[in-house]
Amino acid sequence: MTQPLLDMRGIVKSFSGVRALNGVSIQLARGEALSICGENGSGKSTLMKVLSGVWPHGSYEGEIFFEGNLVKAATIRDTEALGIVIIHQELALVKELSVLENIFLGNELGSFARLNDEEMHRRTSELLARVKLDVLPDTPIRDLGVGQQQLVEIAKALNKNVKLLILDEPTSSLTTTEIDILLNIVGELKQQGIACIYISHKLDEVLALSDWVTVIRDGDHIDTKSAADLTQNDIISMMVGRELDEL
Ligand code: ADP
Ligand code: MG
Repeated sequence: MTQPLLDMRGIVKSFSGVRALNGVSIQLARGEALSICGENGSGKSTLMKVLSGVWPHGSYEGEIFFEGNLVKAATIRDTEALGIVIIHQELALVKELSVLENIFLGNELGSFARLNDEEMHRRTSELLARVKLDVLPDTPIRDLGVGQQQLVEIAKALNKNVKLLILDEPTSSLTTTEIDILLNIVGELKQQGIACIYISHKLDEVLALSDWVTVIRDGDHIDTKSAADLTQNDIISMMVGRELDEL
């Protein structure tokens, strides 16, 4: 790999002396998708919280390089400014506000701060078209289904000039149609050069979407392999640490 977009090296994260991550390293290039697989409690979300600045620089060991620069984020805002955006399983939209208001809420890029109403509507319509969501900018979030809200989250990320989109178990409450839409959109974002880190227990999605699969078990980095070389059973064996016929 020439200079990777993301290079996380030897990440160690402990909670009250207990190691949740025991030296995990991942790399990712522009336009690539990496899935992280592991059983519940293996450390997937913790790794993504380290990457996205939920856990600040100094609260973990190891180093994160993004576009070749050492990341020393103190907050999520700092990583968003770099182009790293995380969408958590629990949706973070404000239900009482509209799609447009949520997309521009807390946007500190500055460049949009001076947009007038008409420009914000035009910009929101463009973003909604990019995620193929057929609703009006003024629609209240509470009128949307979970899958639609997930797409608004992605539209919001696109408004922040995202370079790396992190989706932590985004499909657990989506219908199959909504999952297909989401996977298609991630595919299109990859073609636009946006990298994606994907966490899901649904291994068919993992194999359909990823270039690389990293497996972690009890905070240990087990392996990273090309998705093309893996079956669902291979991934499960790596997750549990045994051959399937031994189970
Ligand atoms: P996963 O996302 O793979 O299910 P997590 O990263 O959420 O796993 O959790 C990994 C381990 O770290 C678990 O043992 C969990 O209990 C622990 N952990 C995660 N967050 C915290 C926290 N804020 N405080 C204490 N322990 C935590
Ligand atoms: Mg998790």
